[in-house]
Amino acid sequence: MKKWIQTHNPSGRIAYVNGRYLPHAHAAVHIEDRGLQFGDSIYEVCRVEGGILLDEQGHLDRLERSLAAIELPMPVARAALPRIMRELVRRNRLRDGLVYLQVTRGAFRRDHPMPVGATEPTLILTAHSGDPAMAATRLAQGVKIITRPDERWARRDIKTTQLLPAVLAKTAAKRAGAAEAWLVDDDGFVTEGGSTNGWIVDADGTLVTRPLSRDILPGVTRAVVLAAAREAGLAVAERKFTVAQALAAREAFLTSASGAAVPVVGIDGQPIGDGRPRPLTLRLQALYAARSGQR
Ligand code: PLP
Repeated sequence: MKKWIQTHNPSGRIAYVNGRYLPHAHAAVHIEDRGLQFGDSIYEVCRVEGGILLDEQGHLDRLERSLAAIELPMPVARAALPRIMRELVRRNRLRDGLVYLQVTRGAFRRDHPMPVGATEPTLILTAHSGDPAMAATRLAQGVKIITRPDERWARRDIKTTQLLPAVLAKTAAKRAGAAEAWLVDDDGFVTEGGSTNGWIVDADGTLVTRPLSRDILPGVTRAVVLAAAREAGLAVAERKFTVAQALAAREAFLTSASGAAVPVVGIDGQPIGDGRPRPLTLRLQALYAARSGQR
């Protein structure tokens, strides 16, 4: 752990904790923080490209919605958050990567019920640099995925830090040499990926993704890709699909802040289409790129 902290904290890496910009290695929260003790916290992830935060307003909208769903107040005024995120990007000289933002219910004597009015929320932001060449390779070459039973709770529309089922599913994927696990509900329908939304292109060329409900996270990238597809006049259907339908699909792909329209070239060891990224997915990558800079 100590070794990891030393090697992953090149001098100059800065985090934000409750109003202060601190060297990453010295940024910390209290051990009684409810985020740590109960997963009583909400998070957001924004992609940074060329130093610009993508889809910032969509992420802030979802943050407000998730916080309201668990009765957690905004830790600072909404208008202050873009300023903090940009300052973090600036201080880290971040060109390409991700900004993570987390709000917890704060530190208090460990007891399950919310300590209403007794704690200040904890606000944490960290910056993570990415490798644009690696991201481009993923978009161009696609990824393989596996399927797993969806073992999460019933409010997957709230972006909480209670991510253990995703940790287990994505570990299984990694061990199988895959990049993601598609989670499957009790009726055999794909809900979404461990940290991505799932899409297929059916035999008619219709773009299909699961409709919003409590079963999936309302992906910000999903919304941008849907709007871009509709604007381009593509046939789109928000409906559930099974693993068998995905295996028979012309194309499949994933969306998330860390990658818009990442081609899925294989599921559970079986190729999708001819096992290579397909034209509609590649077109959606371009449509997303054209839209996502608009904030
Ligand atoms: N679904 C889940 C379960 C996720 O964790 C994420 C992102 O972290 C997504 C979907 C994609 O959401 P977004 O496009 O807002 O990154």
